[in-house]
Amino acid sequence: MLIKNAEIAIGDIVDVRIDGGVIRTVNRNLQAEARETIVDAAGASVLPALHDHHIHMFALARAMDSVPCGPPHVQDGPELVSVLRQSEPTDGWIRGIGYHESVAGDIDRDWIDHAIPELSDAPVRIQHRTGRLWIFNSAGLRAISAFEGETPLEVAAGRFTGRLYDADVWMRARLPAHQISLAAASRTLAKHGVAGVTDATPGNGPEELRLFQAALQNGELLQDVVLMGGFDFDHKQTAPELRIGPVKFHLYEAELPPLEEAIAQVHAARRQGRNVAFHCVTLVDLAFVMAVLQGAGSRQGDRIEHASVTPDTFLGELARLGVTIVTQPHFVWERGDVYHREIKGAERSWLYRARSFLRSRIPLAAGSDAPFGTENPWISMASATKRTTRGGLAIGRNESLTPDDALRMYLGDAGAPGGPSRRISEGGPATLCLLDRSWAAAREALEEVNVRLTLRRGSELWQA
Ligand SMILES: [Zn+2]
Repeated sequence: MLIKNAEIAIGDIVDVRIDGGVIRTVNRNLQAEARETIVDAAGASVLPALHDHHIHMFALARAMDSVPCGPPHVQDGPELVSVLRQSEPTDGWIRGIGYHESVAGDIDRDWIDHAIPELSDAPVRIQHRTGRLWIFNSAGLRAISAFEGETPLEVAAGRFTGRLYDADVWMRARLPAHQISLAAASRTLAKHGVAGVTDATPGNGPEELRLFQAALQNGELLQDVVLMGGFDFDHKQTAPELRIGPVKFHLYEAELPPLEEAIAQVHAARRQGRNVAFHCVTLVDLAFVMAVLQGAGSRQGDRIEHASVTPDTFLGELARLGVTIVTQPHFVWERGDVYHREIKGAERSWLYRARSFLRSRIPLAAGSDAPFGTENPWISMASATKRTTRGGLAIGRNESLTPDDALRMYLGDAGAPGGPSRRISEGGPATLCLLDRSWAAAREALEEVNVRLTLRRGSELWQA
């Protein structure tokens, strides 16, 4: 393939020849060879393909097959009732996602039963926006055999509330086995220029490894994958398309393990030659993780996911630890109005920081956290530059990034997020995306960027 008239740096228009999965030549006025496919970029920008450094692929695939039950799609109780009434079951279930209390409060089994009596025989389950809570109606409880044996379901006044916290493994064992196709989710990412993902699901293990391998082999999954997860992978890392990443720790402020136990887990990860990654959304989570890394010793490539709340006084120590922050800039856009209501004073300026991390020389990368945030990295980059909410309020304006810094969060190597950006250079892999406009035009309206072509080592993942 020959990409003509491509901008590889601002104002630098060249031709790019791709052959055998590699960028063979970058030069001006290359002549097409016989039978070579020619794409005229007409001055539009060619970038290294984006890597989404934090995503949940199977959850995204499931979400794309589910009913949105929270803002901005659904704002209040009557709207929730209406979308549930209109939805068609998949696998016998009506499955809602993205619920937030701002819609109708702490809904439970009785709320759903009473609000939608015509679904009394249809199993309904609704996932909270955090992914940590499912809410079932009574038919849903029957469908997961809730009334047989020990269950982790919440009980109040001697009966099930229909609420189930942090028990996806238990729940999935009670649902019909269902092969979820990653095809639609993967294609959507490719359309945005994403040719690599890091799946950050803490429960990933040998079974998920097998599913990812199969999805890559049968062509459903187009992106290279780094799989975070637990300790029990048995995988020889021979191919670039599937690598085992850091051990993922999911901490919750309310039930943090003893410090020594957490330190021992980091040592166990090191014995496997692996980095560590910590889910970290509160100030207490972050303080705990910093203590763990101080105790166990940090190393390059260790990660803090989200770092939702970071006070000034922590920045110096985070820099010293050399830990990478993997952020979700679009949460400011998507969730900012709720943050604005609920978080006051200084703490609001500690939310999803970005420029302060860069200024403190803390490596910064971005991931969608899809399905819990948009899978479109261009919306995310736009949010990183604007720092405004959907409702038009500002959150941490002085944390805004330049468009170039926002882009760089997606250009670090899969194994070194926040590290040096990959480049379009001769001899490098032809893993790239062609935009529909120059970078000068793109940086004016990142959310409007369309991707014309996405390649992974020369093979076409998407063409508009
Ligand atoms: Zn996540």
